Amino acid sequence: AAKSAGKRQWSRFVPGLRVRVTERHDLRARLDRAISREEFALRYQPVVDITGGQVIGFEALARWPQGRCGPVPPGQFIPLAEETGHIAPLGAWVLRNAVADMARLQRTAGRGLAPYISVNVSGRQWQDADFLEEVSKAVETPGLAPGSLQLELTESVLLHRDDRLDRVIRSLKELGVRIAVDDFGTGFSSLRYLRDFPVDTLKLDKTYIDDIPRDPRQAALVHGIVCLARTLGLQIIAEGIEQRGQRDLLTSMGCRFGQGFLFARPLTVEQSAVALRKHYGGGPGPALR
Ligand code: C2E
Ligand code: MG
Ligand code: MG
Ligand code: MG
Repeated sequence: AAKSAGKRQWSRFVPGLRVRVTERHDLRARLDRAISREEFALRYQPVVDITGGQVIGFEALARWPQGRCGPVPPGQFIPLAEETGHIAPLGAWVLRNAVADMARLQRTAGRGLAPYISVNVSGRQWQDADFLEEVSKAVETPGLAPGSLQLELTESVLLHRDDRLDRVIRSLKELGVRIAVDDFGTGFSSLRYLRDFPVDTLKLDKTYIDDIPRDPRQAALVHGIVCLARTLGLQIIAEGIEQRGQRDLLTSMGCRFGQGFLFARPLTVEQSAVALRKHYGGGPGPALR
């Protein structure tokens, strides 16, 4: 009783804190229900050749549209799902649906169009025992063009190299899965993993791109990273391009690919099909470099 009285007192003095804790608890319960009822949705943001706007792939982005106070952003529910252990089933759902949508897109696009589908995989999922099994099922999705699945991981996953991770990455490569490093440059700053792992793509974080038109040092840094990627034979994708000035600078630096609101926002499958018909730019493989 004394304890709860203490809590009440606390909440009287710091109302904001108490609200946040309650909201969090509530969010957790709703996440539980949302997983079991599959209340999530996917959007697809085109990855484009920034010189001409041609679509070379799509990134699947999870959405939770029907939170009680409207949509809940992934920046909120993904970390929560990681904490509660929900990320494994949620991640599996994303993977299954993203490849199914992409197989359908590739089929209806016709003419051998094979954009790739890039799926975010959180650190926790890599630890999951069923992860490889789910990926191998995903690449066998009927109608999915070979080599068109890419998985995005963050630098932190590659930081702690061990036999298990080596094995997982090797198996993924054998399945023809491309590996991308997401939010490149924001994690712990060791670059050794670029030597140790067969990474295909670097996705340069938006925070690196934002200021390049105004900040010469930032621009020089980005230019250096673009050169590094090209020297290593990696595809580099600039994230979060919003302005023409950014695009033009990136082009002059030799960065060919990007994502951002300047080109397209995350789209529904139907909108993706339209974008694909209008602006297709080459399937997976060497053309991507
Ligand atoms: P991310 O993987 O780095 O995805 C890029 C984020 O940048 C997306 O936010 C996208 O909508 C946003 N974005 C793209 N272009 C622009 C731009 O020009 N300007 C601005 N301001 N933003 C842009 P979103 O969809 O809110 O996702 C946020 C993060 O949540 C993702 O960052 C990713 O880390 C995570 N996430 C989303 N879906 C999934 C998922 O299915 N699984 C996992 N594990 N994480 C996911
Ligand atoms: Mg991503
Ligand atoms: Mg990113
Ligand atoms: Mg990001």
